[in-house]
Parts: sequence; C-alpha cells; structure tokens
Amino acid sequence: MPVETPTLALPSEESIAQPKPVKVGFVSLGCPKNLVDSEVMMGLLQSGGAHITSHAEDADIIVVNTCSFIDTAKQESVNTILEMAQHKVTGKAKKLVVAGCLVERYREEIQKNIPEVDAVVGTGELDSILAAAGISPDGQSSEEQSPFVILNSTSTSQSLKSGVRSRAEGDARQASGRFSRSEWDGAIADLPNYLYNENTPRILATPKASAYIKIAEGCDHPCGFCIIPQLRGKFRSRHFESVIAEAERLAHSGVREITLIGQDTTCYGEDLDLKDGLALLLDRLARIEDLRWVRFLYAYPNKITGRLLETIAGNEKICAYIDVPLQHASASVLKRMKRGAHADIFLRSIEKMRSTVPDLTLRTSFIVGFPGETEKDFDELCDFVRTAQFDWLGVFSYSDEEGSAAYHLSDKVAPREIERRRKKLMQIQRQISKKSKLKLVGRELDVLALGPSEETELLWEGRSEMHAPEIDGKLFINDFGAHEQLVPGEFYRCEITEAHHYDLVARVI
Ligand code: SF4
Repeated sequence: MPVETPTLALPSEESIAQPKPVKVGFVSLGCPKNLVDSEVMMGLLQSGGAHITSHAEDADIIVVNTCSFIDTAKQESVNTILEMAQHKVTGKAKKLVVAGCLVERYREEIQKNIPEVDAVVGTGELDSILAAAGISPDGQSSEEQSPFVILNSTSTSQSLKSGVRSRAEGDARQASGRFSRSEWDGAIADLPNYLYNENTPRILATPKASAYIKIAEGCDHPCGFCIIPQLRGKFRSRHFESVIAEAERLAHSGVREITLIGQDTTCYGEDLDLKDGLALLLDRLARIEDLRWVRFLYAYPNKITGRLLETIAGNEKICAYIDVPLQHASASVLKRMKRGAHADIFLRSIEKMRSTVPDLTLRTSFIVGFPGETEKDFDELCDFVRTAQFDWLGVFSYSDEEGSAAYHLSDKVAPREIERRRKKLMQIQRQISKKSKLKLVGRELDVLALGPSEETELLWEGRSEMHAPEIDGKLFINDFGAHEQLVPGEFYRCEITEAHHYDLVARVI
C-alpha cells in the first residue's frame, strides 16, 4: 500500500508577514555602574526580540533606570519618570518601567504615587526586565503577563544564592544592621544579590572601542554618609574567569579600552579567597592581545597594596591611573564618617603610589559639610589638597540621607556654608590643576579618538591614559597632522599644545 506523503501546509502570505518587534526606549541615569545595569537590561530585551530605540517618542515601552544615591539624583530620577510618563499620553508608549536604585528605596511609593508606572525592577532583579516590560521571549508584547512579576535568576547571572560566598566583614556588618532598610517605608527587606556574567547579553552604550566591566557589586564598608550598601547589597565578586571571558569577547568585538568598576574594586576576590585579586585580574587582562588600556576606578584607600602598585607599574597596558576617593583629610571627620585614617597616612600612601608608579595620574573626591565638620577641619582639608596636588579632584556637598548613619548625627552644617566650602575647595584645585596641565605642554602621548566635539565639528575629542571616561577634563584635537580625517576608536600619537584649567589641546604628530 502506497504511503501517503503528507504535504506541508504552506502558510498564506498574510501569516508570513512578521509582526513588528516591540520598540523599547531606555533612559539611564547615574553612575557607570548603573549604566552597565542598563546595558545588561537592553541586552536581555534585545535577546527577547525587542528593538532598542533612542527615540522615546517612537517607543512602545520606556524604561527609566534610576539613581537615588543623593537627593539631587532622586529628584532627577522622579523628574525623568514624569517626563517619560508624558509619552504615554502624547506618544506611542503603552508601558513605563522604572528600574534601579530608586526602586530599591521607594518600591511601594513608586507603585502607589505614580500610577503611570506599570512595573518596577530593582537592582537585584535585572533578569526580570522582560517580564516587567511584558515582552515574551519572541519579542512581542505579552499582555497576559502581569506587571510587577519577578522572575528567578537564570544561568545568565551569578548570585550569593548560587554559591558565591560573602566576606566575613560583610557578614559581621550585616549582623550589626549595616544593610537594614527598616528606616525606609516603601522598601522590601530582601537585599539585591544579582551579578551578571559573561553569558549575559549586553548592549554597549559607550563610545566605540571603550567599555566598562563590572567586576563586583555591593559594598561592605560602613561609611556613615552612604546608603549604597542598602541599595546594592553585600559585596560580591564576579568569578575571575567570567570577567576574563567577557573582556576577551569585548576585545574580539573591537573594544580597546576597558574600565573596571564596582563600588570598591580593590576588594575584588576577597569573597573568592583570592589574595590581591585585583592585581591578579589586571595582570591577566593585560595579556589579552587586542586590549590597549585597562584601568580600574573606585579604590578604597587602605586596600591599595604594594602588589597592586607594582602590577600597574610593571605593565604598559594598565593605565598609570588611580582613582581613590578619600572623602576627607581631617582625622576627626574621617572618624565620624566611620572611615578612619588621617592626612599623614594619606600623604604617605600617595608618596608610595607616586614613587612606585611613574607618571601616575591621581584622582580623588571629597565630601564637604559632613555633620560636625568645623572650620578647622575644613582648613585641614584645604591644606591637604594643596600638599597632595591631585591631578583630578571632585568635591561633593554632604547630602543628608535617611537610612545613613550620619542622618542621626547632630551639628549639621548649614547648606550655604556647605556650598561656600565646596566652591573654595574647587577654587584651590583649579589653580593646582592649571599648573599641572601646563607642565604637560610639549609632551607626546597616545590618544584614543572619540569623535567630533559637541561644541564644534572643527575639534575632535579624545582621551589619554590620564583621562578616565566621562569624569576627567577633556582633551581636544585641533590638528589632524597628515590625516585628512580621524577614525573614532583609533589611537593617535599626539603632542599637547595648549593647557587650560582642566582641558588640554593636542595635535596629531
Ligand atoms: S566605600 Fe563607597 S560605596 Fe561603600 S559605603 Fe563607602 S562610600 Fe559607600
């Protein structure tokens, strides 16, 4: 008996037409650590079939990844949420998702007080962005999925639950209530423990040839002004090989400059039983052939070891650049900040850094107006800045944050006085910076070309080893030498021809 061959029912033309992918617009606020979270969420959305658009008015879904580190950041986050909510009225947007630090702090308030918000995603729930956006894995809008759904972490993430240990210091701080959110009404008790890994999809939002890698998340330090540990959870490192695999993949795709970030990069590996984990990691990353520059940000002062300095000094690819936020120099303020140390210790440590790493670029930041900071404390800080001669320096005004230890301190400094101190310290640094930048005129260095300047197309912007992305002064190129045009993401040998207070001008040689 002949076997009847079943015929394939060909679909009609109508059913062949693919439905349009859901368009997602993304707004990322805050620091580079938040930017990496945004890049991960965009990657997850794209891998779910969504199309990422940079035009909010075109988006079906808008995600705002927020910051709530200090008051001004919170205000910016709320303003942006309200602005984006308008697209649900005037534009195409059907869904608004709020993600990030603001969610960790005000989860319930956001849901209650901003009805335009359809879903929230905390810093520990990045995997749940697809469900929150209501996108099914085929990239279509899935109305059956309810908002505020939290998915469990998948294999594209690593978490404390999946075998990562915490540091003894973190455990002790947890026992003493460092991570407690009980002072915050709308926050849930669970601390975030998410970490992405090398398999997590990610879309880079940084200029060509440049990328951040988050090597750790959370923080165990007790700094009295800071609520990041409550927002981001206990310190946890990504697996060593996961960071290397990600860096290799990025290098293979054209990235030449990698900036390692975390709340405290110098603690890297302590929870993995690695001694000098950051030094080991840098040393290994520097062996990736296609990478040209590797740098790290956010060092904790007493964690900068001799081995770390020797690793920086001994390897051309590791930028001779250290960013170490010192926060203050007066012993009494540092003690009240729960950080300890004093100006002399810092000066000795700076001396060691400079004598071990030739041509070191040193960046720091300070907080002025911490509760109880006297005029004498502030003068001490000013003297310290004059002596230390930092290449780059940021000054932040103290912000009184509910949930921080400092919130309960008396002797608050008046806002006008805080502002006066901030301006004065910046004025001192302005002169120091001008002097140090003038010394660079005539020097030759490698510059990573970024693209035409936002100010004028006649100038290009670039970056040298002494400029970390986004935070330091600018380097403009006004003479392309023998090149008709520069290529973004390429390195050029340049000579510094002019110096301003913070910015440099260079010509290609
Ligand atoms: S080390 Fe940085 S992130 Fe950690 S508590 Fe101190 S200021 Fe906050």
